[in-house]
Amino acid sequence: MIELKGLTKVYGSKKKVTTALSGLSLTVDKGEIFGVIGHSGAGKSTLIRCINLLERPTEGEVWVGGVELTKLGKRELQQKRSKIGMIFQHFNLLSSATVYNNIAFPLTLNGTPKAVIKERVNELLALVGLEEHSDKFPAQLSGGQKQRVGIARALASDPDVLLCDEATSALDPQTTDSILNLLLDINKKFKLTILLITHEMHVIQSICDRVAVIHEGGIVEEGPVSEVFLKP
Ligand code: ADP
Ligand code: ADP
Repeated sequence: MIELKGLTKVYGSKKKVTTALSGLSLTVDKGEIFGVIGHSGAGKSTLIRCINLLERPTEGEVWVGGVELTKLGKRELQQKRSKIGMIFQHFNLLSSATVYNNIAFPLTLNGTPKAVIKERVNELLALVGLEEHSDKFPAQLSGGQKQRVGIARALASDPDVLLCDEATSALDPQTTDSILNLLLDINKKFKLTILLITHEMHVIQSICDRVAVIHEGGIVEEGPVSEVFLKP
């Protein structure tokens, strides 16, 4: 579902050059939860941002659902991007919009009829357990509730893949577990492919099928979670 081939990302110009990714290759199968773990500065966030081309790789190919994103024109890329959901460490909600409108936002942008939006948003509110909170603003929510809104918004346009950028790093352990359980439910229910990046082993061990360890922009180890983390 996601295939990265020889991905290299170099930041900066002549004065100071940082190689954030160096020839990284990775395959995430349809329906699996794949985790990428590594220390700060290892290249995790560059990696995840390259998948929807928020960041342009310097070299290499990005394939999602059999399409090479790096080859697409602006319009096609926009369409493809709407099928790549993303959630963030700091939620990235619109603070002046209600929960309902935050979730509706991607659908409003692509011109979905109001009645369809209403039905879809209500479904999503039920899915993430926020029916009672639809008229609240983000500032009135707990961290866990904010991330539930983030998840509902990411699912609004029925994505093929969900990218999670340190999605539980700002949450306490109990809330982290409730969000991880929600992601697992969604993965099972919709066979949604999930790629997450994290610096927390716990996240990998609780929900990931496979894991890659990233270090200095390259993958140093990869495999089923039970194998990678039970080695002597
Ligand atoms: P991680 O998410 O694992 O902490 P990053 O992908 O953020 O790693 O960073 C990898 C390397 O690239 C680091 O050395 C970081 O300083 C550098 N880097 C990240 N973003 C930029 C940027 N916009 N400009 C210059 N260097 C960057
Ligand atoms: P959680 O255990 O999921 O993190 P909290 O214990 O933080 O949730 O919040 C519980 C309830 O308090 C929720 O229904 C939430 O809407 C409400 N709440 C949290 N923060 C605020 C706030 N700043 N203003 C109004 N209501 C809030």
